[in-house]
Amino acid sequence: AAKRAGKNRYSFFTEENNRNLISRMQLEAELRAAIENEEFELHYQPLVDTALQRVTGAECLLRWRHPDGMRFPDQFIPLAEETGLILPIGEWVLRETVAQLNRWADVIGEDFGLSVNISSLQIREQRFLERTRELLKANPIADGHLIFELTESSLIEDVEGTIRWLRDIESLGIRIAIDDFGTGYSSLNYLVRLPVYCIKIDRVFVNNVDHDRDQAAIVLAIFQMARALRIEVVVEGVETREQLATLTAMGSCGIQGWLVSKALPVDRFEQFLQEFPPSELPAPAL
Ligand code: C2E
Ligand code: MG
Ligand code: MG
Ligand code: MG
Repeated sequence: AAKRAGKNRYSFFTEENNRNLISRMQLEAELRAAIENEEFELHYQPLVDTALQRVTGAECLLRWRHPDGMRFPDQFIPLAEETGLILPIGEWVLRETVAQLNRWADVIGEDFGLSVNISSLQIREQRFLERTRELLKANPIADGHLIFELTESSLIEDVEGTIRWLRDIESLGIRIAIDDFGTGYSSLNYLVRLPVYCIKIDRVFVNNVDHDRDQAAIVLAIFQMARALRIEVVVEGVETREQLATLTAMGSCGIQGWLVSKALPVDRFEQFLQEFPPSELPAPAL
């Protein structure tokens, strides 16, 4: 035991820990500078509906145009959440999303939804609701065009409080989707009480859906539950035609994945919309 305590005591000073600490401090400083210098941009991943056979929306995914190259959320969102920097970053993301919806008002169909990931820290922030209301008052958008993606784990604390909060969000004309469905620990009984229009099945349930019977059984069960509750389903991470075929045999759903498209920078997403207008033509790859 003494040996273990000694180890713990000195482990803080190992070279490796120092390096981790220093690189974390560097990353934090760089993140602050990135906010100042507006190095963030949103990329847009199309969402295709298998029944309607067309593009019905997109998800905004954050990218950091770092001087050393493009950085993806996995490389900076966790630290941004630990440090609270996700609050100013998330505010920028939401402003940009609303601005983009206004710029696209003429090219998107009536049922087009643009979704944005909201961090649990933002949800817990006192003034978040009020600021969102003010943002939409200054930049009005038609009801339903803006979607908030919330993860199960960000919602599990106080049921009644969460339901009230979600209803307030809805009253602003914002739709609510549960992201990464199935990866958290919340009970179905809890989830079905929430006013959500859609659940997004995480891609860990999809990678083998076409040849793993257990995985297929789970996805089918989620489809059936959602249908019974009249909740829409979006399946994330669809990469192959085989996966798509398995899913369409189970029922209609939204598809988001590399089979259709990766997340695209704004100009390339606009080209995509020109090629596959949301309200008219069949979507690609289906
Ligand atoms: P998410 O919200 O579940 O987003 C889906 C992730 O799956 C995205 O990763 C997307 O690029 C990736 N993806 C989509 N289709 C495929 C596919 O067919 N195959 C594979 N392998 N991956 C696919 P990304 O962009 O790296 O984002 C990762 C996570 O970072 C997001 O997961 C979300 O939780 C978070 N995130 C992204 N943007 C924001 C943001 O603006 N704010 C906050 N708070 N979190 C964000
Ligand atoms: Mg998401
Ligand atoms: Mg997800
Ligand atoms: Mg996620």
